[in-house]
Amino acid sequence: MNRRQLLMGAAMAPAAARQVETVRRKWTGTVERLNLRHTWTTVMSSSQFRETLYLRFEQDGITGRGEGAGIVRYGETAQKGLDLLHANGGWIAERDPWQYVRVMQDVFTKIEGNYAFKAAVDIALLDWVSQRASVPLWKFFGLDRADAAKSTFSIGIDKAEVIRQKVKEAEPYPILKIKVGLDNDEEVIAAVRSVTKKPLRVDANEGFKTKEQAVEKINWLESQGAISIEQPMKADNLEDMNWIRKRVHIPVIADEACLHPADIPRLAPHFDGVNVKVDKCGGLLEARRMIEMARALKLETMIGCMISSSVAITAAAQLSPLVDHADLDGNLLIANDRYEGVQIVDGKMVLSERPGLGLVERKG
Ligand code: MG
Repeated sequence: MNRRQLLMGAAMAPAAARQVETVRRKWTGTVERLNLRHTWTTVMSSSQFRETLYLRFEQDGITGRGEGAGIVRYGETAQKGLDLLHANGGWIAERDPWQYVRVMQDVFTKIEGNYAFKAAVDIALLDWVSQRASVPLWKFFGLDRADAAKSTFSIGIDKAEVIRQKVKEAEPYPILKIKVGLDNDEEVIAAVRSVTKKPLRVDANEGFKTKEQAVEKINWLESQGAISIEQPMKADNLEDMNWIRKRVHIPVIADEACLHPADIPRLAPHFDGVNVKVDKCGGLLEARRMIEMARALKLETMIGCMISSSVAITAAAQLSPLVDHADLDGNLLIANDRYEGVQIVDGKMVLSERPGLGLVERKG
């Protein structure tokens, strides 16, 4: 080696060293179409498929997976989430995933709204760090999977004949969740009761028109075996809630009214419980904060979901040991789930001992 080659080599060395030191991190995303087993009808909409955002975070040969189901009501779509990844993936990839709390704080500061996108980032980071730590995420969170709550199975609004069929398919689930709030509530409940005596959690999705109607409906639903009622009135209608609660006996749970941690103290005087959803609040860190706040305020806690694959459902299920009730069946409503994750055995969420979310990709 001559002097010139030696100098060239010396000049090259720091650059090469820098490259070795640069950790290779990669964020990628896709929009996935989830086909529903049955047409899904609630007060809000009717549909045959949903689109969700899938995110992958790769580093050190480990892939963290995240999913977010954008809620149309808040102007969110999977495609918007993917566009946000393209716009923000660069700076997020520069950040150390072990500092996931700070990373998520920055995601919340820099990006307005789009909570399902934020949820997908949060889930992928937490899946990655817990896989890297070789522990299941529930253990990483300091929880015991033996405490995992029981989950309801949801029956969408439909014709009596289809409802009876859906209830029969829901045989393994000891508690059903029934959507009401349309004109055919009596028909829906009669169809359910013609085939099962199981307890029902009833969700009106803001469907009752007046406080008087709400009281009449809720007391009738109680006589039909309802054990709770979700969001009877519009999300912003808090003034009628106390009037209603004085006249009914079953717990009234906030869902559409309850999106973020700051909502909880405001809702606490008006509801008996809250339904926390990872897609509404922007991730497991926020969802956990909401659950802890609700518990501190002596509210019943439920963790719910949107229609999603096993990625998002298994993520939400990691928090199920912290709540009174789980409503995590969004993956059971779709026909093309690409992953296997949390299982439901005798109605109880069963979390995997595998590291991270413990997801297994299905073959084919
Ligand atoms: Mg609901």
